[in-house]
Amino acid sequence: MKTEYIILKEATLTNNCPECYSTDGMTLAFKQEKLRSKLLIKTNKNVIESIHCGKCETQIFAGQWTKDIERVYEYHKKTISSKPSSIRFTGLFYVLLFLLLLLVSLGYTYLYHPNILGLN
Ligand SMILES: [Zn+2]
Repeated sequence: MKTEYIILKEATLTNNCPECYSTDGMTLAFKQEKLRSKLLIKTNKNVIESIHCGKCETQIFAGQWTKDIERVYEYHKKTISSKPSSIRFTGLFYVLLFLLLLLVSLGYTYLYHPNILGLN
């Protein structure tokens, strides 16, 4: 399975970075995890939030957040709408399903109605 992320929202913060004190480097992102395999795509309803500072290239973890960052985070958190968890099948899944059904119906016809296939 491959993990991808759906970006729900990205916001540039003007707060001081707890690492480098720059005021224009931080980006707050809200993401949802999407697992993709050959047959299905599963969306996880948990929202992952992260703050990254582009100036010092550091991930700012929740423990380092200042009161101001928390306030801005709470504000943005209210504006996002997450997607419900879901499972979706891929095109390959339907192709395989179709082939399977075709095989089953051919097998059935062969066993019970061989005349349709011109076998008697
Ligand atoms: Zn920084």
